[in-house]
Amino acid sequence: MSGLQKEVNRRKTFAIISHPDAGKTTLTEKMLLLGGAIRTAGSVKGKKSAKFATSDWMELEKQRGISVTSSVMQFEYQGYKINILDTPGHEDFSEDTYRTLMAVDSVVMILDVAKGVEAQTKKLFKVCRDRGIPIFTFINKMDRFGKEPLELFEEIEEVLGIESSPVNYPIGMGPTFRGVYDRFNKRIEYYEDGEKAGSQSIEDYEDLQKYLEKTADQATIDQLLEDLMLLDEAGNDFDIESVKNGKQTPVFFGSAVSSFGVPTFLEHFLEMSPSPSSRESTAGKVEPTDEFFSGFVFKIQANMDPSHRDRIAFLRICSGKYEKGMSTWLERTGKPMKLAQPQQFFADSREGVDAAFAGDIVGLYDPGVYQIGDTVCGTKDVFSFGDLPQFAPEHFAKVRPKNALKHKQYLKGIKQLAQEGAIQVYRTPRYEETILGAVGQLQFDVFIYRMQAEYGVDLVMEHLSYQLARWVKEGKVPEKAMRTSTSMVVNDYLDRPVILFKNDFNLDYFKNQNEDITLSETPPKTSN
Ligand code: GDP
Repeated sequence: MSGLQKEVNRRKTFAIISHPDAGKTTLTEKMLLLGGAIRTAGSVKGKKSAKFATSDWMELEKQRGISVTSSVMQFEYQGYKINILDTPGHEDFSEDTYRTLMAVDSVVMILDVAKGVEAQTKKLFKVCRDRGIPIFTFINKMDRFGKEPLELFEEIEEVLGIESSPVNYPIGMGPTFRGVYDRFNKRIEYYEDGEKAGSQSIEDYEDLQKYLEKTADQATIDQLLEDLMLLDEAGNDFDIESVKNGKQTPVFFGSAVSSFGVPTFLEHFLEMSPSPSSRESTAGKVEPTDEFFSGFVFKIQANMDPSHRDRIAFLRICSGKYEKGMSTWLERTGKPMKLAQPQQFFADSREGVDAAFAGDIVGLYDPGVYQIGDTVCGTKDVFSFGDLPQFAPEHFAKVRPKNALKHKQYLKGIKQLAQEGAIQVYRTPRYEETILGAVGQLQFDVFIYRMQAEYGVDLVMEHLSYQLARWVKEGKVPEKAMRTSTSMVVNDYLDRPVILFKNDFNLDYFKNQNEDITLSETPPKTSN
């Protein structure tokens, strides 16, 4: 096996998706603890407040009790190199999450046992399914009362349309939770006083029953055996191919807060989840083991470190090996591009990269040269991995700085945050007013907050009643349609015309009146 192949095989790059509060931070932290990447529980949250690897607006997250950023963390465990991509839990930031999902090879979905499949999970899940990303399910908070496991499987199958195959199965729940039965390894892992107390191999269900009589009540045992036999007979057989195609999700149970079930989950997950595989590009399939270097930018974040005010472009490597000083080209411009000061992110530090391989995420210092979706190639014959999904905004507002003397900082902040994809920025052609577009209302709040905290600019914001944005792909908008009572023409940051409409009715009316104009929900690709 080549050195490159070995490096690719030991890489696991995944995102964790969940509804807020299901336990994403807790599970991430427990995995980092296992890998020795952090020493004490509470450090991930603690780091947030210490503004590590995130920006000032973490303060806002703390005030709101929500998570709106994505971060990247690398650690090693049992010979694997693991890249975890955190995603914002709040649906107003789903665009950010969707882009992150383009950069991973699998996804871990956390469900709260009491809540099952929640709205946000449903939305994110759809993207995974459409892309065929393998999904692993961790059902959390088994130390609390919740839904019956079989009911949860049904929910996963009906609501998400994917088969489930439980790798382990809970013994009781809430006050009667005694641990899990590992169906793969025929083993009980028992839970006592909030800790994993140990494990015990089991011959068969009779053996299981005998064993459990010492710790569990009869009702719990009867229920467990009935469920296990039902699963054996009528459940889905585990099928690794279906898992890899995103058609079946292996399900695990545990209690992240007490670490229970986390090591077992991680071990099975690392074995079952795919390492980086080939990706489609304009030059055909690119294999992770191809000698030439390639990758794409899926995220840009300004002001990661408040003391440096720097901007980082996050690049997912798709093939080859990154080496210091290598030559690369940017596909959008075709020009040579030095990868400046690449860094990798660990739980409590970021360090310069000497070598990185397909699956790894590196942060590039970005003086304003990258755009989200950019492909970076290690060959002069550039190619592209395609555009990343962009959402048409549904909320609009007009903004200006409260203090006209702050105009310069205001323009800088708007430009940087727009390039980051934090918000969409438009201008009215005649009066040069700034119009903001967002997928969710909370994006405005974060924007106002960051403009204040990072650029020192207080904003005056006026919400507008438009709900739809359409890019003009072909045709010229007639003068009389530039600003009506139901629509308004603005330019996006690359000066492409966009029409904002109040509702579907107005949009249809416009289309009927202007048949020579083609509208699109996404911006046309440009090369400038
Ligand atoms: P996130 O919003 O998905 O990142 O969720 P957190 O990891 O911050 O967890 C939300 C809350 O649930 C916190 O108060 C955690 O302590 C709690 N929590 C996490 N895992 C468990 C668990 O297994 N059992 C119980 N009872 N609480 C948990």
